[in-house]
Amino acid sequence: MSDCIFCKIVKGEIPAKKLYEDDEIIAFWDIDPQAPKHFLVVPKKHLAAVAALEEGDERLAGRMLRLGARLAAEHGVGDFRVIFNNGPMAGQEVFHLHMHILGGRQLHGLG
Ligand code: 5GP
Ligand code: ZN
Repeated sequence: MSDCIFCKIVKGEIPAKKLYEDDEIIAFWDIDPQAPKHFLVVPKKHLAAVAALEEGDERLAGRMLRLGARLAAEHGVGDFRVIFNNGPMAGQEVFHLHMHILGGRQLHGLG
């Protein structure tokens, strides 16, 4: 997707502060953090949202979760929140699947 900001980050066309990268997943710090530690775990292939996951993507989705937990621990975040926003009504603004990991402060409610 040529006009997708996260595809551009994947391709290195715009910069991001990366925590991790392999052949199918990239993780980088959120540009507008909502907690002291807030990063995004993003599949390199363009999927619009959770609802676009297909049969065969189970391993990718599972890897995103495990990697998010591992990276949180590596950055000293023991307790964290995992968020996937799916669609505008849920607050999704970037339509390339991503998993938020937030931690480093006391979190309350769901907002
Ligand atoms: P959404 O609301 O779609 O679930 O979350 C999108 C997230 O991407 C937001 O937290 C926003 O701050 C972050 N974001 C948007 N553009 C960029 C960018 O260019 N670089 C980084 N690192 N984060 C971005
Ligand atoms: Zn994309």
